[in-house]
Amino acid sequence: QQQYPDWIWQNGSIKRWQDATAHVMSHALHYGSSVFEGIRSYATPDGAAIFRLTDHLNRLYQSARVYDMTIPYSADELAAACRDVISKNGLDAAYLRPVAYRGLGGFGLSAETPIDVAVAAWPMGPYLGAEALENGIDACVSSWQRFAPNTIPAGAKAGGNYLSGQLIAREARRLGFGEGIALASTGLLSEGAGENLFLVFDGVLHTPPASASLLAGITRHTLVTLAREDGIEVIERDLPREYLYLADEILMCGTAAEITPIRSVDGKQIGAGKAGRITLRLQELFFGLFDGRTHDKWGWLEQV
Ligand code: PMP
Repeated sequence: QQQYPDWIWQNGSIKRWQDATAHVMSHALHYGSSVFEGIRSYATPDGAAIFRLTDHLNRLYQSARVYDMTIPYSADELAAACRDVISKNGLDAAYLRPVAYRGLGGFGLSAETPIDVAVAAWPMGPYLGAEALENGIDACVSSWQRFAPNTIPAGAKAGGNYLSGQLIAREARRLGFGEGIALASTGLLSEGAGENLFLVFDGVLHTPPASASLLAGITRHTLVTLAREDGIEVIERDLPREYLYLADEILMCGTAAEITPIRSVDGKQIGAGKAGRITLRLQELFFGLFDGRTHDKWGWLEQV
């Protein structure tokens, strides 16, 4: 049974969770016309802090821009809403979900509906399980490809994109895997259902480029930054499928998944079948941001 927090922000005010409703004829429900973010807050020695809140909200406005949606609140107002839902619900380590969507106001595809906005927050631990962070997950290459770049823009984080994500994730779980990895329409490696990919060869990180129909994640950017700072080389490049089977290490990353090692792909063991040296180092640097072991020289932690 899913537990819900008491409070949520909707269209300018904090209200009770059960009062934050939308009409069944809202445009977004029929056509996928929403944009959203997934953000984490962590319990740090200085109190609850939201990780890269400004960058996530920037991406929300960029996604909205692609779909000609004007969000009727400023980034400062949405940042305040994010802080409010954390404090009002008494949360520290949590997941934040701002969403802006086409509401009730017309049934045509190009209808100029009102843009409704909500921000929810709920407690959240590791998305793929605590055990997964340590021992890794078994992944498979999905039979579903990601949408081609000239069909749906993967760089905008829109609700409709997640029909693809659901097909990939549900197929993987139905077949007994922890997560699915998708190829782009070019046949080259793209990303997981909701995570970016890094492969390690000879101590160097390789990750597919934005042109491979993926969302260039904020966690991906964080890892590239932390790795380079630590003297680990990172190469953004096209990667063919078979490289999955040849890599010394593979990891998935995202706000929800954090840094999850992949111990096998399609039943073939990767490296030693557990988190490798580079993955462990990146986990240490990444999680170190939240307990003070990694100095946050970028101002990524934004206090609640
Ligand atoms: N790709 C997809 C499709 C995603 O949904 C996510 C999660 N937002 C990511 C990658 C990782 O992005 P981020 O690190 O910004 O959470």
